[in-house]
Amino acid sequence: MAALEAPVRTCIGCRTKGTRNSLVRYVLADDSQTPVPDEAKQLPGRGAWLHDDPKCYDLASRRRAFARALRIR
Ligand SMILES: [Zn+2]
Repeated sequence: MAALEAPVRTCIGCRTKGTRNSLVRYVLADDSQTPVPDEAKQLPGRGAWLHDDPKCYDLASRRRAFARALRIR
């Protein structure tokens, strides 16, 4: 059974897949358009997943991937 496998998410920076544990979830801070890391991975709302790597963050911001993933207007 695959039920015990960790859920897989796609990094919005490099677009490769990783397990939930290897990626950092970003959400929008209250009343802001700035993505912040959701350390506990429990905040409500849409999340964007990224590797814990500045290169992925950089790629994501250059491609406006945060805007797409988090519906920033
Ligand atoms: Zn990545």
